[in-house]
Amino acid sequence: MSIQSNLQNIKSTLPELVTLVAVSKTKPVSDLMEAYNAGQRVFGENKIQEMVDKWEQMPKDIEWHMIGHVQTNKVKFMAPFVSLIHGVDSLKLLEEIDKQALKNNRIIDCLLQIYIAEEESKFGLDEEELTTLLASPTFKEMKNIRIVGLMGMATFTDNQNQIKKEFTHLKSIFDQSTIHNSQFTILSMGMSGDYQLAISCGSTMVRIGSSIFGGR
Ligand SMILES: *Cc1c(COP(=O)(O)O)cnc(C)c1O
Repeated sequence: MSIQSNLQNIKSTLPELVTLVAVSKTKPVSDLMEAYNAGQRVFGENKIQEMVDKWEQMPKDIEWHMIGHVQTNKVKFMAPFVSLIHGVDSLKLLEEIDKQALKNNRIIDCLLQIYIAEEESKFGLDEEELTTLLASPTFKEMKNIRIVGLMGMATFTDNQNQIKKEFTHLKSIFDQSTIHNSQFTILSMGMSGDYQLAISCGSTMVRIGSSIFGGR
């Protein structure tokens, strides 16, 4: 199957209000251009340098999403152009994003990553850390970041009940959030293997890689 037909198939199953992030990490620019020419404008990468390289080579009407774990010292490289940072999991990182956004005279949209899986390897804030972050004066003073939603990754398992439980948990945290801005609308959950389940649990943004571009 071609990238174009994979994209069409997936898009035909997505509700209108669900945004598709085409996860293009490790794939060559020629593959991304195939998706671009099929109409895709939102791409997700998990390494900052790779995203910068692709941004330099590709058309400028693309929205670039950073979906991976972010190292604080690399924020400056993507600050001029990144559209959305999905994996924000500490106040320290948020402070750096705020600082670099100010330097670039812009506001950078961020999702807070919440830890919902039963695996030690996944990044993210637990509920207590989320509450602490949102209550901190440092957070309240930041002017150049905007928290527009939450992101989470379910446990890598075939157990649909467990994945559903984890997505439902994230949805309830999202619904109960105390973040008061009208742009707090994005719930980023679901990948190639579990996006339909994620959508049924309330996802508004799915991050799909291998089902579009093939295995990595
Ligand atoms: C790689 C990746 C994806 C896409 O995974 P696929 O299984 O290839 O769809 C989604 N989210 C994150 C955070 C990723 O790192």
